Amino acid sequence: MMFCPKCGGILLPDMEKKGIKCSKCNYKESKNKSMVIKERVNNKDKIKIIDKNIETLPKTQIECPKCGNNQAYYWLVQTRASDEPETQFLRCVKCDHQWRNY
Ligand SMILES: [Zn+2]
Ligand SMILES: [Zn+2]
Repeated sequence: MMFCPKCGGILLPDMEKKGIKCSKCNYKESKNKSMVIKERVNNKDKIKIIDKNIETLPKTQIECPKCGNNQAYYWLVQTRASDEPETQFLRCVKCDHQWRNY
């Protein structure tokens, strides 16, 4: 589950624009920013991102399972066939713990 950084509403996939949008306000986000990271992850087949790009990732309000911090970077990864839904990965802004959100 992702939450809007503006109003805290639930973010829903925006299929037409290949991004996400807020269910409450007009907040929208495209996936374009994470394209580079996506390719790197697919090549190595691991949960890994490039540190110099982390600052450009969008943040979401979600509780870190490790340290309990409630803000994490997130990005989307196509794990299987292109018609399958993408997997959301999260990385705690505090302790750098990474995990998947199904
Ligand atoms: Zn919102
Ligand atoms: Zn953490």
